[in-house]
Amino acid sequence: MVEEITDEIEETTAETFDVNYACLRCGTVVSNTELSRLPEIKCICGFRVFTKVRPAVVKTVKAV
Ligand SMILES: [Zn+2]
Repeated sequence: MVEEITDEIEETTAETFDVNYACLRCGTVVSNTELSRLPEIKCICGFRVFTKVRPAVVKTVKAV
């Protein structure tokens, strides 16, 4: 439970910095600053679904 809370905090902190999004269709990565400049959230390919690209922080959680 504690780990989940920590994870959320980290995610919120990361969002105040630059967050990258990857288009689900073509994989083009755009930053949130670029997206906010656009009239609508849309990829160059026309697709509108993005996934958040986290910074390269790999957490390995293994059940012991
Ligand atoms: Zn795309």
